[in-house]
Amino acid sequence: MTQDHGFDTLAIHAGAAADPATGARQVPIYQTTAYAFRDAEHAARLFNLQEVGFIYSRLTNPTVAALQSRIAALEGGAGAVCCSSGHAAQIMALFSLMEPGRNIVASTRLYGGTITQFSHTIRRFGWSARFVDIDDADALRAAIDGDTRAIFCESIGNPGGHVTDISAVAAVADAAGIPLIVDNTLATPYLCRPIEMGATLVVHSLTKYMTGNGTVTGGVVVDSGRFDWSASDKFPSLSAPEPAYHGLKFHETFGALAFTFHGIAIGLRDLGMTMNPQGAHYTLMGIETLALRMERHVANAQMVAEWLQADPRVDGVTYAGLKTSPSNATAQRCYPKGAGALFTFAIKGGYAAAVKLVDALQLFSHVANLGDARSLVIHSASTTHRQLTEDQQRAAGAGPEVVRLSIGIEDPDDLIADLDQALAKATA
Ligand SMILES: *Cc1c(COP(=O)(O)O)cnc(C)c1O
Repeated sequence: MTQDHGFDTLAIHAGAAADPATGARQVPIYQTTAYAFRDAEHAARLFNLQEVGFIYSRLTNPTVAALQSRIAALEGGAGAVCCSSGHAAQIMALFSLMEPGRNIVASTRLYGGTITQFSHTIRRFGWSARFVDIDDADALRAAIDGDTRAIFCESIGNPGGHVTDISAVAAVADAAGIPLIVDNTLATPYLCRPIEMGATLVVHSLTKYMTGNGTVTGGVVVDSGRFDWSASDKFPSLSAPEPAYHGLKFHETFGALAFTFHGIAIGLRDLGMTMNPQGAHYTLMGIETLALRMERHVANAQMVAEWLQADPRVDGVTYAGLKTSPSNATAQRCYPKGAGALFTFAIKGGYAAAVKLVDALQLFSHVANLGDARSLVIHSASTTHRQLTEDQQRAAGAGPEVVRLSIGIEDPDDLIADLDQALAKATA
């Protein structure tokens, strides 16, 4: 399988030839912890990273390896490391770049859990994050200092579906000689390929659209293979001798695969945030239909957003695919296949009406998730953003009257009918 094949072909075939041992055509779940060595010499070569192979499933597993190859192909990357969740993948992305005292510059418009991870939890490792408006290149440049080791943003961002101009952010990262990490969860490689726009690393929560049916918790880091880790002394994990491997230098030894090998040989080995083979199998199944699903997600989101915007009971819709959105020009230029399927709208009648609407919806499930085949709804002010003041909620795009929708792939007429009856009850 080569990267010359089209996206839809890679989504089905990349990483997944017929099983060499049995001929099994679908990727088997290799439910095994360990792998027999051919002899002592083979074992020694594997442990020295002189030969690539399977040792122990905390590091590598054939089912997980198939998924890694498939996602690397879809994103146009050199390699990928799967992790136990999207949040684990974010720590994995930072792990090879950071040391105590270093910082990242991150977008203010991120998944709520990521804001928490970056504001509080990473401080325990001596890392920190500075949050800036990702559309403001001057603010980005001003936030970068000698200790900054990456810029982090989402392609399409939570909760309002904000669309980021990745090329513009990549230009700032390039000028500063630091990598750009893009969380591509909401766009998926079907709508956006951040590496083509200059990103160094791409992270995903595979929990969402990539698996696509709410059955798996997983994550991945994809490396473009293009960053020169040895151009400065900023990234010693990748450029300097590694004491745990007899002084091996990852970048010098593995070139474009330096980050991938470091992620597996040091990251998974010592942090243990490994994806399990069953989860990887389900995600492989999900990715087979990624293009078809994303096409429908986007078409449905556009129809529902247009219908809501025209409804007098609604006070505004954030979807960047709407002609009236201030982000529509960026969406058309950077996301020509669509602006995703997640957006918020404001209901007339404030907090009370929003809560009634969520309770009255029947097809939409009230859950803290997104990117499922079924349509989902959440009222952030009473759930995920409950601990914030009203001012903070508004700043996060989650004011009391705001409802977030993740549009699924059902019949759009049924989704609109459900919203219609629920809006009637909520605003009666
Ligand atoms: C869900 C999500 C995450 C976290 O992923 P988990 O798999 O839940 O750990 C990170 N970023 C975005 C954009 C998400 O939607």
